[in-house]
Amino acid sequence: MYCIECARENDKDAKICAFCGAELHEHLDDAQMRKLIQMTHKRENVSREHFNGGLVSLVLGAIFLIIGILFIYLSFKTQTVAGHSSKVFSATCFEFYVALAGIISGSVLIIRGIIIVSLEKSRQNKFARLIASLRNKTFKQV
Ligand SMILES: [Zn+2]
Repeated sequence: MYCIECARENDKDAKICAFCGAELHEHLDDAQMRKLIQMTHKRENVSREHFNGGLVSLVLGAIFLIIGILFIYLSFKTQTVAGHSSKVFSATCFEFYVALAGIISGSVLIIRGIIIVSLEKSRQNKFARLIASLRNKTFKQV
């Protein structure tokens, strides 16, 4: 059962919207259907903003990850022993801490971005199906 005030789905025998407290209607007239379309569009727009936030998270995460990997490379220090110089990895240098911070925060941002983008994508598909069913009158309230 859809609430026409907030366009959220409630249990099929609910009388009042669990999300906004509005009265639920078992049969919707044309004006109520239009209202539901309008409110679903609003939720779609909010979802699109969250989706874009998820994309920003993905891009930032990728940048942090690249910086982290570059600093792993910088954590190798040149060491000269008996006239022979070689690259030795140092886990105590400043560069390695930057690498760790970049890789950890980058990974977190990427995972967060993937979750938000996929969640909002499926939400938008749901909204699109709802609007389509309202437009072509195949919509069923219960
Ligand atoms: Zn509601």
